[in-house]
Amino acid sequence: MRVSVDRDRCCSSGMCVLNVPEVFDQDEDDSLVRLRQTSFRPDQFGDIRLASQLCPGGAITVVEDEPAQA
Ligand code: SF4
Repeated sequence: MRVSVDRDRCCSSGMCVLNVPEVFDQDEDDSLVRLRQTSFRPDQFGDIRLASQLCPGGAITVVEDEPAQA
């Protein structure tokens, strides 16, 4: 899973930080979203997907990894 955040779309609601504080943070100066991690554990995937769906600014993009080819 790859996750990116668009600070231009973030409205500083803080919902992502409330839902997944180990992954998302807010900048101390402008309160805009920052990622705390660059790689993610499988047990975090569900919470990250939910945070993306709930983000009021549509600022969190999740790209799922392609399944391994047999
Ligand atoms: S939920 Fe979305 S709008 Fe709110 S702080 Fe996180 S990225 Fe920004």
